Amino acid sequence: MSDGKKEPSPFDTWNPVQSTPYGRLNSGASTLGEEEVQEVLAVIRSRSLSRDYGPDCLNTVLRFEQAFARQTGARYALAVTSGTAALKVALVAAGVGPGHEVIVPACTFIATPGAVVAAGAVPIFAEIDESLTLDPDDLEAKITPRTRAILPVHLSGVPCQMDRISEIAKRHNLKIVEDCAQSCGTAYQGRQIGTWGDLGAFSLQFSKIITSGEGGVVTSDDPDLYERAVRYHDQGSFREKDRFPGLQPHLDEFVGENYRMPELTGAVALQQLARLNEITGTLRTRFRRFQEGISGIKGLRLRPVNDEAGHLGVRWGLVFDDAGTCKRFSEALRARGLSPGLSYGGKPVYLQPQILNQATATPEASPWKSPLYKGEVTYGKGLCPRSEDILQRVLMIASINPRYADQDVDQIVEAVRQAAGSVP
Ligand SMILES: *Cc1c(COP(=O)(O)O)cnc(C)c1O
Repeated sequence: MSDGKKEPSPFDTWNPVQSTPYGRLNSGASTLGEEEVQEVLAVIRSRSLSRDYGPDCLNTVLRFEQAFARQTGARYALAVTSGTAALKVALVAAGVGPGHEVIVPACTFIATPGAVVAAGAVPIFAEIDESLTLDPDDLEAKITPRTRAILPVHLSGVPCQMDRISEIAKRHNLKIVEDCAQSCGTAYQGRQIGTWGDLGAFSLQFSKIITSGEGGVVTSDDPDLYERAVRYHDQGSFREKDRFPGLQPHLDEFVGENYRMPELTGAVALQQLARLNEITGTLRTRFRRFQEGISGIKGLRLRPVNDEAGHLGVRWGLVFDDAGTCKRFSEALRARGLSPGLSYGGKPVYLQPQILNQATATPEASPWKSPLYKGEVTYGKGLCPRSEDILQRVLMIASINPRYADQDVDQIVEAVRQAAGSVP
């Protein structure tokens, strides 16, 4: 517009939550409050901003790790600087490196295959099903003698079928690293994600279920994998081993990096974690109301969630028979003020240019061209045809946060009802 003013969105007058500053925030971000402020101030007043150094360290990161382990039921939790760092540390801890392949679902954020490449290995893409998570039926077909690990992704609060994936991994003697970045607090068959595989990787980035702006966590039950993770995240050795409870170091040093979480980040993360049960409880309650609300509308099918009690209900999806109907439904919802969209724009992750072109920062760093790598892969359209089809007909109609009230849910239900009536 000529006067430079923003066009008002239909939601500004139509949906009270979407028009508040909270409406467009993701779960954790929408709940930030005084508790985080006080915890951060305490850390600054301690003048001890590192988990390892300072005159009066409050052990905030350590307390966060202990609380995270309790929350998930994992034996160990290691705080790191991002979800991507968590994935890389977990993959390295699992022994993944040059010459290896890691099986990744066709639909995920770029960080998932990116971390595999950063660890020196080659990502191999497997199909997803209509839940948008790894299809166990395709997984086994993608295993080769070079496969070292499986990297299932619990996408937007929906857990993968970990029982079947675990069984396949066991039969082929493969490690599992779970990408839990989008799904903190999700359970499968009563067991928290991040405790099914050999290692779990969580993110605390700003758009995730709980957040410290940036940050991540590695979980494991295995003392050796935990020791390798701790070593890799901090230069291969230990500053003070009693700061890692339960750790009995017995492995040799190896060169690591620095992914240590700062105390200031730990302060926010600790208070966000204290809110997790309330966040997930609210999300699940809102989802059930939505589910009941649309249950009478003919011809609608919800995205399968693999576990009715364990999934988070943070992102609501509908499955259509074909891309055309999906598109018409999307337009009908948009006309009624919602902001529906396809996951990752409806594109599989392997069509992102850096993966598609197998491009690393320097050509010598390429895991695909490593002399240790005996396979040969190309990526491109048609690589996972079923996933490409599914991604075009599973519509994400709303991402909610705990600030959404019953009336907001009812408005979304009403929009869906009207759209369903208008799309043949
Ligand atoms: C966000 C995300 C990551 C990476 O986490 P960061 O904290 O942003 O590094 C990895 N995998 C998935 C599926 C994600 O959504």
